[in-house]
Amino acid sequence: MRTKNQALIFELSKSERVGHSLPHLDVPEQALDTLVPAEFVRASEPELPEVSELQIMRHYTALSKRNHGVDSGFYPLGSCTMKYNPKINENVARFEGLAHIHPYQPVEQIQGALELLYELQTSLAEITGMDEVTLQPAAGAHGEWTGLMMIRAYHEANGDFQRTKVIVPDSAHGTNPASATVAGFDSVTVRTDEQGLVDLNHLKEVVGDDTAALMLTNPNTLGLFETYIEDMATIIHQAGGKLYYDGANSNAILGIARPGDMGFDVVHLNLHKTFTGPHGGGGPGSGPVGVKKDLIPFLPKPTIVKQDDLYTFDYNRPQSIGRVKPYYGNFGINVRAYTYIRTMGPKGLRHVSEYAVLNANYMMRRLEPYFDLPYSQHCKHEFVLSGRRQKKLGVRTLDMAKRLLDFGYHPPTIYFPLNVEECMMFEPTETESKETLDEFIEAMIQIAKEVEDNPEIVQEAPHHTVIGRLDETLAARKPVLRYID
Ligand SMILES: *Cc1c(COP(=O)(O)O)cnc(C)c1O
Repeated sequence: MRTKNQALIFELSKSERVGHSLPHLDVPEQALDTLVPAEFVRASEPELPEVSELQIMRHYTALSKRNHGVDSGFYPLGSCTMKYNPKINENVARFEGLAHIHPYQPVEQIQGALELLYELQTSLAEITGMDEVTLQPAAGAHGEWTGLMMIRAYHEANGDFQRTKVIVPDSAHGTNPASATVAGFDSVTVRTDEQGLVDLNHLKEVVGDDTAALMLTNPNTLGLFETYIEDMATIIHQAGGKLYYDGANSNAILGIARPGDMGFDVVHLNLHKTFTGPHGGGGPGSGPVGVKKDLIPFLPKPTIVKQDDLYTFDYNRPQSIGRVKPYYGNFGINVRAYTYIRTMGPKGLRHVSEYAVLNANYMMRRLEPYFDLPYSQHCKHEFVLSGRRQKKLGVRTLDMAKRLLDFGYHPPTIYFPLNVEECMMFEPTETESKETLDEFIEAMIQIAKEVEDNPEIVQEAPHHTVIGRLDETLAARKPVLRYID
């Protein structure tokens, strides 16, 4: 039930009621007439709700409680790494010397910020085993595109204009073939075998002198580590292609394995996943890209360099693919990631991956008796189950996902990856306690039992949320952007 406080904010409006106090005007009022061209001056006041500060506060607080966030509950959304965002990161991001500077300030005045970015680049290069890193890309897919544009520039600099194809396994993240297409390549699919790993024989068939690169998501979207990575690297390098590592979800390998050591030429990371940038609601993100030596000339410019004792920007990079983002990336997210890396330290980062993998395997083994497990080897940071057993009883994966909402959980990723029928993809992350995992597992077991004994309760879920089941297509195409009683 909606309380009075959650009433329509426009209906609470009373003429002349104010919830703000602005400073006194410190420019002459007539400046308005002379500085703003007449056609841009409003003829009438905008129709805004006139409410007190307390009313607006309650309005937004009520709205925020209708949402699910990692600070309010378990969020095992596979491939998204909804881990806890430590609050010390927020404190540091609000430091005046970091939050109140301007990108056009002279470099002498922002040495601390530049040092932070430089140190972050260096740490990420160390973590991934690459030679240099750019922090410009705004998110994972943007990093993929940036990496592919560098690979393209590299091949063209060698006169290799026939390299038009990017090979992408069918177990890759969906953004990989999309980024390849946007970067002007044709994407070629390589199959996975019955173990859920890239089929090397098929890879040998599709590779050729038109191969620009292989893009590998590792661990792949089935949560499995690609065991034959070094063989893949040999196959691609012998054909003259480059190896791209999608490291958006690096939560299973920190301090344990490095893409650079496996033979990869380019890698991107998602600081908003693995490195705790808060990313509900789509952003902002940060998708740094690391490269090996022979791709360094093509990095976006400017790069941040240290000359003698001064951090500064290097624009003199004739082979650069250019700028990919205004200024130097999403600075605030980079500050949070830097803080996280420094507070965890090398041992802490390794523990992150050990616990992320342990939690995923624990959940997978406890749920195995109740749902189909299509790939039964140990998983990395996430795993997939299939709802095909439940589908035979008339209950779809979508229904079970909706039922989880009644227990106060965010559902897993569903119907992805596409090569698993009625797929559910779980990523518990390292920050959850065993108690939370156990409670969630019990909810899943209860839902499996309901499917057998009382399927309607699952088919008609959710029952306890503010809004019931929506037509999701209609909701996206024709959203109703107001309260409904
Ligand atoms: C999330 C993700 C991406 C895309 O990252 P965005 O920041 O959403 O653009 C790419 N690859 C993998 C494996 C991912 O999990």
